[in-house]
Amino acid sequence: AQPLLDVQDLAVEFRTRDGVAKAVNGVSYTVAAGQTLAVLGESGSGKSVTAQAVMGILDSPPGFVTGGRILFQGRDLLTLGKEERRRIRGAKMAMIFQDALSALNPVLSVGTQLGEMFRVHTGTSRKEARAKAVELMERVGIPAARARVGDYPHQFSGGMRQRIMIAMALALEPDLIIADEPTTALDVTVQAQVMDLLAELRREYRMGLILITHDLGVVADVADTIAVMYAGRVVETAPVHQLYKAPAHPYTRGLLESVPRLGHKGRELHAIKGLPPNLTAIPPGCAFHPRCPLARDVCHTDRPPLYDVGPGRTSACHFWKETLDGAR
Ligand code: SF4
Ligand code: MG
Repeated sequence: AQPLLDVQDLAVEFRTRDGVAKAVNGVSYTVAAGQTLAVLGESGSGKSVTAQAVMGILDSPPGFVTGGRILFQGRDLLTLGKEERRRIRGAKMAMIFQDALSALNPVLSVGTQLGEMFRVHTGTSRKEARAKAVELMERVGIPAARARVGDYPHQFSGGMRQRIMIAMALALEPDLIIADEPTTALDVTVQAQVMDLLAELRREYRMGLILITHDLGVVADVADTIAVMYAGRVVETAPVHQLYKAPAHPYTRGLLESVPRLGHKGRELHAIKGLPPNLTAIPPGCAFHPRCPLARDVCHTDRPPLYDVGPGRTSACHFWKETLDGAR
């Protein structure tokens, strides 16, 4: 079957003072309808930039798509005009950000903002839109929704605001939702509740979901597949449980070994020694070689392609087989 979203060999560059930064350097991943793909990586790995390119909200300049294709329901979004992309973004895909307070309009009540989503896209009356807003607030678990529909974003807690953002995204019943670190700013307990809600709604509405995170702990229970990114590339993709059991890339293995306790908030993926590369000077060969315990001569010179390493599994490592065997 045709995937809902099929990103192929995407490249995005940023002009910076230090030169051209290859923020996304040949990313490929797919999302099936009704499935959740977690995109995992350290900050600067290109996971958010890829998502922004999919949404068509890259600030250009300084960011430009320089190659690849973004097939959404079979159509390459990169070939469409601005107006058509805006329409698709409004009706078929929605994004949820980490910081709801800056994503929501501070001077409009949440009911007005939610209602506007309906009015613009379905042409319902103001009154009807208000009723729908209340309904949706109830659906995402806002207590006393009817009484609170006139409240402003700052009057809600962080977790409740995130629920309102989810409601905004759902208003249009999109086919794809991209959530970029949707729970990173929240307490552990609230984090789990919001994640559960997102997973539940994804099932109910049969949407595709891309969950962008730096936190392995939050994706285990909600994702179907994982794409691990490093230095602007996907280095491994796998069904989530297989990846946990037996990673096929040394970077993924490092990430798994660096997790002290699943579900513990605020953990960064820094336990692998060394730092991710400067994106204006990505190392030749395998970009991970300066940090890789398995690196050999070939890794310094030859960039590994994304090898097929099993059903639904890929790895961008020359020595994926050893890595996989070592993990078993
Ligand atoms: Fe390590 Fe080489 Fe594999 Fe890169 S290709 S991850 S450097 S073993
Ligand atoms: Mg980010």
